[in-house]
Amino acid sequence: MFMDPSQPSPNVDAAPWLRSASALLLGVLGACAPESADAASAPNVIIWLVDTLRADHLSCYGYERPTSPQLDALAADGVLFEQLHAQSNWTQPSMASIFTGRWPGRFDGGFESRLAEQSLTAAEWFSAHGYATAGFVLSVAVGERFGFAQGFERFEELDAHVDERERTKRQGRGYDADVLVQRALAWLDTQRADERPFLLYLHSMDPHLPHEAHPGFPSWTQPYDGPLDGTTTTTFTAQDEAWPLTEIDRQHMRDLYDGEVAFNDHCLGQLVDALTARGLARDTLLVVLSDHGEELWDRSFYGHGHDSLHHEMTRVPWVLHWPGRLTPGLRLPGLARGVDVLPTLLELVGLPALPEADGVSLAAAARGDGPIPRDLPAFSLRGRRRDDPRALRTARTFCYANPRTGEQGLYLLPDDPDERANLRSERPRAFLHAAGPLSRWVRLLRERAEAGPETDAVALDPATEARLRELGYLR
Ligand SMILES: [Zn+2]
Repeated sequence: MFMDPSQPSPNVDAAPWLRSASALLLGVLGACAPESADAASAPNVIIWLVDTLRADHLSCYGYERPTSPQLDALAADGVLFEQLHAQSNWTQPSMASIFTGRWPGRFDGGFESRLAEQSLTAAEWFSAHGYATAGFVLSVAVGERFGFAQGFERFEELDAHVDERERTKRQGRGYDADVLVQRALAWLDTQRADERPFLLYLHSMDPHLPHEAHPGFPSWTQPYDGPLDGTTTTTFTAQDEAWPLTEIDRQHMRDLYDGEVAFNDHCLGQLVDALTARGLARDTLLVVLSDHGEELWDRSFYGHGHDSLHHEMTRVPWVLHWPGRLTPGLRLPGLARGVDVLPTLLELVGLPALPEADGVSLAAAARGDGPIPRDLPAFSLRGRRRDDPRALRTARTFCYANPRTGEQGLYLLPDDPDERANLRSERPRAFLHAAGPLSRWVRLLRERAEAGPETDAVALDPATEARLRELGYLR
């Protein structure tokens, strides 16, 4: 929806005092830090967020198929983080961590909660320091209804504009990333007279179910007459009803996924070309990343947001491109977390650090001044329910616990990069060594939740519910 910052948001019904913490903090900030002082020499920041993009299906992350020539070129001229791990295996908790620098723990998957007004978000922080802010999103999960619009002067949920008949014809598919790029560029062109630098957030969905082939773009699909047509419904029905899928069926879906990745990469190239044509590329820090991966039947499932927190769910790309300001072609092998993204961006562009962030700035590493600090623990969880699966990842271990099923896992890295050999029983002491910090982390999240609301309640309307069903989030 189009957001007019001068009008109260139609979906925000929280009492004024609930808006308190971030407003208070930003008010204090505004009183002591004139806007222009911060932003005068600051670069633009564009966040190109590709939903459901696992790193290992990108050529610059070693994939054998050339799915990502545009991103490869950005990485060759910029900085690539080889091991960014998201804080959840689905959109809302992971995006909340990226946009607040805080651990997840706000969302349970029921779509009955929203990022609390008192959360301090990237857009609020950039805005308070003199940036123009705009967000264009294709996922209802990161819409205004769920609190993700806070801080954006302009926020559009493009998916809300897809005609219902058209949507039915397209079997639930919304817009592709090319439309997102067009909308964002139209905004950019109205923005040119504004002397402020901008923060622009683009959230695309191409690799997310449902899948379709994109004629004229790189494709790896073979002639196929099996039961899977790339729709969310068919994919999940096949799993629910245990259809006897063959490897040909599964590979067909992987091929479709790769085609969507390649199409999205093409759209990223359109954005880069448009920035160059407008003379904006040099003064723009372009950030490419994803909120989570996708299991492509690596184990027993196609999709995300289920119980697994293995690497195919959490390892996502993170590439920074800022011509002349970063070491070209630098690849950083250390473990990084979604919560580190915002602290890193703030330091790189010269804005003050975010108060109360759980993540740390990796700006020094990004500048080539040494490696990513060792031993940063990457926690992840599915949701905030007491029995939701959770995991701890370090450079040496991946430790997993699912209170709902009683399943526990210990995988030794880097010897077992695919996380296949569960050594929980054989190495009980090593498991306890990792499980202790994991339990303490879950306790910390619980204490935080009890200390103050990090989520506000939200009621679902039928249209939003329909969108969430199409994406497979509600069944
Ligand atoms: Zn997502």
